[in-house]
Amino acid sequence: MFLPEVKSKVNEDISILIKLDNYSFNFICECGDASGLTVKECQNTEAIFISHTHIDHFINFDFILRHQIGIGRRIIICGPEGITQQVQSKIKGYQWNLIEENSITYEIREIKKNGQVEIAEINPPHWEIIALENKHPDTLYKNEKFTVDFAILDHKTDSIAYLFKEDDTVKIDISKSEFKGGQWVRELKNAYEEGNESSLIKIEDQDFKAEELFFMLETKKGDSLGVIMDHAAHPANHAKIKSLFQDCNQAFIECFYKAEDKEFAQLNYHSYSEESAKIMKACNVQKAIPVHFSRKYKEEEVKVLLEEFYDHLK
Ligand SMILES: [Zn+2]
Ligand SMILES: [Zn+2]
Repeated sequence: MFLPEVKSKVNEDISILIKLDNYSFNFICECGDASGLTVKECQNTEAIFISHTHIDHFINFDFILRHQIGIGRRIIICGPEGITQQVQSKIKGYQWNLIEENSITYEIREIKKNGQVEIAEINPPHWEIIALENKHPDTLYKNEKFTVDFAILDHKTDSIAYLFKEDDTVKIDISKSEFKGGQWVRELKNAYEEGNESSLIKIEDQDFKAEELFFMLETKKGDSLGVIMDHAAHPANHAKIKSLFQDCNQAFIECFYKAEDKEFAQLNYHSYSEESAKIMKACNVQKAIPVHFSRKYKEEEVKVLLEEFYDHLK
């Protein structure tokens, strides 16, 4: 299960931290100037996902980098076309003569305009861009718990929307039988996952055909979480959002303007309260969370914006 936390205050730039139950590392979406992000959370991060590099989404990368130096691990950064160069440029703005060589590695997964992912890494002290052997992976990101898919949205520049999809898991209810737990549970789950109905499972010195025991098992559907940042509220973007985020459990969506300011939204290739709500409703997202409001709005205006959003979500 994904446990996201918005790390930015209402009047700060956006940053979302994603944790998972029973998983020790966490994930950062967007590097806006968010005061809630702690040193420990930066250090404990496994991957960073950036929609686009407008300053309000990328300025805090330096702070995160500052705290990650010295952790001696590989950190993955996913982002739009140009991200490799932009990460390198930020880092090269500092002097690195005293750094140890293996204090960190950044692996950058750049999403090209055609949807192909290109992987490179950079290391101290010279931070040169080295293309990796497995240059074009099939999946943008995958670990033992979940995968991340994406859509390239139009914000007058590419803006990547990310879908975090937890793997389905097989659960067992031993109380449906008279057996005690043991090694056989793992073997039975494996047989179930691999579709080996006839493999033999030994429980307390007795052999059973796997399929005779399947009645104790159940597939638990994995959680899903969307992060949909800056995008124009136009049909082409909405079609992409609909195809990726249909029936998603939870999604954060940018809601930069009030309905009254929709001309600004159109001008700046942004979405606004009504349209963000409507597309979340069309996707049948169970829990839609509006984030990333224009900083020109005072508290009262943000309240109006939120009311508009929730009214159109009904
Ligand atoms: Zn933007
Ligand atoms: Zn923005």
